[in-house]
Amino acid sequence: MAVIIDGTRIAEEIRAEVRKEAGELKKERGITPGLAVILVGENPASQVYVNSKVKACGQAGIYSETILKPEEATAEEVLRDIELLNQREDIHGILVQLPLPKQIDENQVLPAVDPAKDVDGFHPVNVGKLCLKQEGFVPATPSGIIEILKRMNIQIEGKEAVVIGRSDIVGKPMALLLLHHNATVTVCHSRTVDLPGVARRADILVVAIGRPAMVKGDWVKPGAVVIDVGTNRVTADKAWEELKKDPKRAKNLETRGSTLVGDVDEYSVGPVAGYLTPVPGGVGPLTIAMLLKNTLLAAKRSLK
Ligand code: NDP
Repeated sequence: MAVIIDGTRIAEEIRAEVRKEAGELKKERGITPGLAVILVGENPASQVYVNSKVKACGQAGIYSETILKPEEATAEEVLRDIELLNQREDIHGILVQLPLPKQIDENQVLPAVDPAKDVDGFHPVNVGKLCLKQEGFVPATPSGIIEILKRMNIQIEGKEAVVIGRSDIVGKPMALLLLHHNATVTVCHSRTVDLPGVARRADILVVAIGRPAMVKGDWVKPGAVVIDVGTNRVTADKAWEELKKDPKRAKNLETRGSTLVGDVDEYSVGPVAGYLTPVPGGVGPLTIAMLLKNTLLAAKRSLK
């Protein structure tokens, strides 16, 4: 059976490191790292994410500020807020929570963030820097996955890595990071022919597609490291037999009416893989931890 990677423990380790370094920065240089989050509208999932980020900042000794904008806010209003935050010395990181309401084009808003404060790593300048292997900001989820691999002592160099999904926030930066760590990388997507066959080549398989339990045991090379980025909410009426039989999931389905599952079918992949990140509790916790780490980094770089 695969070793189940405890992402919560790894994230706690990183958060403790950030807390320690933030404390030292304050003591030695009188600076408290500061993160501003712009939340437009009332998307309940976004509200939950923003609350978690704010709470995590507090625990890590990072100052945070949430700028709440109404659902009908215009791009111009958001741009004005970003401009003010760009100029503030106490704010080192700026994050615009996605998705934005439909009247606001994220491609107009995200490039307005000062690249030196772009702790999400979504600004075209930071995307370019990642591509060129220059110092910038890297999106939290893929950099969190690299942390998982490193802290589990999993070798990347020389390995065959397959990334399923080519989004700008997960798949593409993931592929670049693996490449920079000297893996041989293949990127798959919805038009890939023989996806199971390509996936089976992987020593390290990263799955970020948003399709519940799509990757099955016969897609996985025995002993492979399988990183499941997917977070899909499956409701009780759509739950399949294994989910209903799993005591933890059965409880969730009964009490909350849904359960969170990954893109990887843990029941058939578990017996084949060498390592597997669970959902929840695998990659997810790293995303906030790496955001904190990026905010600390932004504060340190502001001193240079
Ligand atoms: P996107 O929807 O932006 O991208 C999905 C990618 O998967 C696309 O490249 C798409 O291909 C590919 N894809 C979709 N269906 C298939 C298929 N049937 N076969 C092969 N490829 C397919 O998603 P994200 O990258 O933003 O997110 C992916 C998943 O990861 C989601 O479940 C999301 O919730 C989760 N996530 C989790 C995070 C965490 O912190 N744990 C953070 C970010 C995301 P194509 O380009 O051809 O359309």
